[in-house]
Amino acid sequence: MTIENLLVDTVKEVVEELYKERKDVCSCETCKNDIITYTLNQLRPRYADSELGRVITKVEMNQRQFRAEIIAIAMKAFDLVKQHPRHE
Ligand SMILES: [Zn+2]
Repeated sequence: MTIENLLVDTVKEVVEELYKERKDVCSCETCKNDIITYTLNQLRPRYADSELGRVITKVEMNQRQFRAEIIAIAMKAFDLVKQHPRHE
């Protein structure tokens, strides 16, 4: 599994969790993907070109602080998509 996939999975998981509390925001595929993409783009890139780096990044992703960072960015994404939905 690549780091990119790990990050995408973690962000998707957080977004799904936040949707339970943000029922005011549209959850169609377009809006959901916008939120996920925005969050991924705002996150500080994490490079891991060695096996050790991979392990460290995996551990880091499970940390509360990293999750909190994703949640903070995703919250902004929810507000943006609510104000400017791109769906038809
Ligand atoms: Zn929508």
